[in-house]
Amino acid sequence: MRNYLVVGMGKTGESTTGFLLDHGEKVLGYDDHKKRSDLLPNILNHPTYSHLMPADLPKLNWKNIQECIVSPGVPSHHPVLVKCDQEQIPILSEVELACSMLDFPLIGITGSNGKSTTVALIGHILNRAGFSAFVGGNFGTPLIDSIAFPASYHWGVVELSSFQLERIVNARFHIAGILNLSPNHLDRHNTFRDYFFQKRNIFINQKKDDRAIINFSIPNWHAQLCQMVRSSIVPVTSFGQLHEGFYWEKQKIVERFEGKERNIDCRNWQLPGGHNRENLLFASAVCRVVGVRVDQIEESLSSFQGLSHRIQKIAEINGVVFYDDSKSTTPASTCAAINSLNGPIILLLGGRSKIKDFSEFTRYFSPDKIKMVLLFGEDRELIQKFIPESIPTFLFSDLDEIFLKIRSLTVSGDCVLLSPACTSWDQYANYQERGEHFFRLVYGNQ
Ligand code: ADP
Repeated sequence: MRNYLVVGMGKTGESTTGFLLDHGEKVLGYDDHKKRSDLLPNILNHPTYSHLMPADLPKLNWKNIQECIVSPGVPSHHPVLVKCDQEQIPILSEVELACSMLDFPLIGITGSNGKSTTVALIGHILNRAGFSAFVGGNFGTPLIDSIAFPASYHWGVVELSSFQLERIVNARFHIAGILNLSPNHLDRHNTFRDYFFQKRNIFINQKKDDRAIINFSIPNWHAQLCQMVRSSIVPVTSFGQLHEGFYWEKQKIVERFEGKERNIDCRNWQLPGGHNRENLLFASAVCRVVGVRVDQIEESLSSFQGLSHRIQKIAEINGVVFYDDSKSTTPASTCAAINSLNGPIILLLGGRSKIKDFSEFTRYFSPDKIKMVLLFGEDRELIQKFIPESIPTFLFSDLDEIFLKIRSLTVSGDCVLLSPACTSWDQYANYQERGEHFFRLVYGNQ
C-alpha cells in the first residue's frame, strides 16, 4: 500500500481518490476550501482516506508521502506543491496517472476556445460511425474514470487544458491538435510564450506514426509547431487552400492528399459561426485519420446540436431572440459569438475579467451590429472604459437588475446575447449557474 497525496478535491480529485482507494492505496486528500462534509460518502467513509485542509498542514508528516497527484486547477506555485518539491515527492497530474494505465489510444485536443465542442463532436462522429469512444478529460468525465472499462473503448477523446498539459511527462496522444491560441489564463502562465509552450506539450511524446493536426490558419506559430513535432503532420486551415490537408470551400470540406481530393458535404451542419466551422474542420480531420468514412461524417452532422451555454438559442419572446453564451469567458469567444449573429445585438458583458486591457476586443465594436452594451458584475467599470462612445452602454450590478429593465430596452428583431467575456466567479460558482440564472430570468422567474 502506497501513501498518495491528492491536491485539489474537485471532480478530478475525487475521481482520482476513488480510483486509488479502489486499488488498495492510502490517500490524503487536500483542498484549500472543500470541507470533509462536502465529500462523496464512499470517499469520506473509506478506512484509508484522510482529509486535509490548510490548518492540518503543519502536523503533516511529509516523509510518509510517496507520490502527489495534482488536479488541473491547482497552480504550480501552490504552497503544497512547493513543499512537495522541497521534500522531493514526485508530483504527477491525473492525466499522466490515467495515461500510464490505459490500453486504448488517445486523441488529445487543446486550444484556447472550442475544445469542449470539438471533443464532443469527435466523440459524436466516432460513436455514430461504430467506434466506441470515451469522451472526457477537462470536459465532463475525468480521464481516470475511463479505466474502469478499458476493454470497451476503441479511442479516448480527451480535452486538455494548458493546466493539464503543464505536467506531461510520458502521456502520449496518438492524434493531437491545438485548435487555436488566444491570450487566456495568463494569470497562471505569465506570458503568451509560456502558454504556447504548455500547449505544445500535447505533441511531446508522439511517435513517428502518430498524427499532429496543425492549424495553418495561424502563421506565427504553425511554422514553430511543424519544426518541433516528430509525428506526421496533418495540416488544416479555414482560410484558403492547401497543397495537402483539410480546408473549407463554400459548404464543404476538401481533403487533399497525394493529388487525390475528396469532399465532405457540410450542408447539414447546424452550429452557427465561422468558429464552429473551424471546430468541424478539426473534428473531420481527426475522424478521417481514425478511419471514419466521408459519408459517415456527413450523416452525423445534422444530429449534433452543440453544447449548452455556447451561443445557445434559448427563447424568442415578442420577436426578441435570447442567446446563452455563458461559457464565453474570454474576449476571443465573445467575438466569435458576435460574428455568428446578425444583430442588432444587445450584449450582456461582465463578471470577473481575466485581463485588464479590453481595447483589442472592443476596437471593432460597431453600432451597426451592437445596438447596446449592458455591463454587469465586478469588472463592469473597467470594461466600460473600452466601449466606443457611439454604443449606448449601461451599468448594472447583476443580471437580476438588467432584467428589471430588459423589456423596456428591446424591440422585436433584437438579439439579446449573454456572452460575458469574463469568468462567473464574482457572482456564481461556475458558468453553468450563470447560464441557468439567465435562462430563468428570460422566462420571467428569479
Ligand atoms: P473550451 O472548452 O475551449 O472552453 P467550448 O467549446 O466550451 O470551448 O466553447 C467556449 C466558448 O468559446 C463558447 O463561448 C463558444 O461559443 C466559443 N467557441 C467555441 N469554439 C470556438 C473557436 N473555435 N474559436 C473561438 N471561440 C469558440
